[in-house]
Amino acid sequence: MRTTSRYRAARVITAIGVVSLVAACSGTGGSTATGGATGGGYPDKNITFVVPFSAGGPTDTVTRMIAEPMAAKLGGKIVVQNVEGAGGTVGAGEVARAEPDGYTVLMHHIGMSTAPALYQNLDYKPLEDFQMVGLVTEVPMTVVARKDFAPKTLQELVAHVKANASKVTLANAGIGAASHLCGLLFQTAAGVKLQEVPYEGTGPALTDLVGGQVDFMCDQTTNTSGQITAGEVKAYAVTTPERVKSLPDVPTTTEAGLPQLQVSVWHGLYVPKATPPDVVQKLTEALKVALADQKVIDQMAKLGTAPVPAEDATPEAHRAKLQEQIGTWGKVIADAGVKAS
Ligand code: ASP
Repeated sequence: MRTTSRYRAARVITAIGVVSLVAACSGTGGSTATGGATGGGYPDKNITFVVPFSAGGPTDTVTRMIAEPMAAKLGGKIVVQNVEGAGGTVGAGEVARAEPDGYTVLMHHIGMSTAPALYQNLDYKPLEDFQMVGLVTEVPMTVVARKDFAPKTLQELVAHVKANASKVTLANAGIGAASHLCGLLFQTAAGVKLQEVPYEGTGPALTDLVGGQVDFMCDQTTNTSGQITAGEVKAYAVTTPERVKSLPDVPTTTEAGLPQLQVSVWHGLYVPKATPPDVVQKLTEALKVALADQKVIDQMAKLGTAPVPAEDATPEAHRAKLQEQIGTWGKVIADAGVKAS
């Protein structure tokens, strides 16, 4: 059983994947133009979408889903880059300091609102250092375990971890990640402190869960749906008030007797603060087109989620959500007395 930390705070770039190539615009992919872009000629070189977690995980999956129709709308090419580490804060910090020209875009999730309360020396300020592009989707989480883990229900899981606290391992994607937050809520509700095993994303964590190297974890349905349906992991509950249509047999945490465990993972796109407004507007328009794309809607539905309504795919709605969530989770984290070391 893995007990050593896989947490690394250093900048790690693991993969670069070209997700779409649209030949319409001259100079695509080869331009050396930098800075000062305005909407007129934008884009005239590759746009990089930074994912602050591992390739193959849920944040990465959602990013790749929308990147293709966004690239088509923008008439350019989008490259997805995974910049992992420290629960998503390494990638976010890198985008905060990037050239504000619309060519570096961050896809982040609820972790944007938990990091300020957890990290004393966070090197960016979510509300001040970024311009919001729009919200993307809100994804339920599932509480899942290796398939041969003894507890059969969420109640049994609580009893089991209480009786075996020093032995049970709980995987997450680093301090500040959605899985960390959900694990924190679980431990608070169960009144137990477990051994946490941090990864750089829940893609690799799920691989280890399927392989039996860790006991259980929380993760978005965009990562766990396939394994739940295939019976490769055991699902105890979904963390939303309603059941998830594509996982009809999985009870909600309320039905399963742990109503305190409620979290859904909202995602949004960000650019550095000083990005020109006309460039931001082009990105927002492209996001709206991607979220209305039937292929994207179908892919998301299969994985237990849906695009946000068009009115939420805007900078204003996104900023309001981030502001509200920083307040909500800041209080939960302060009450729990958790800090990143
Ligand atoms: N699901 C992860 C989290 O816990 C992130 C990821 O790998 O996409 O935040």
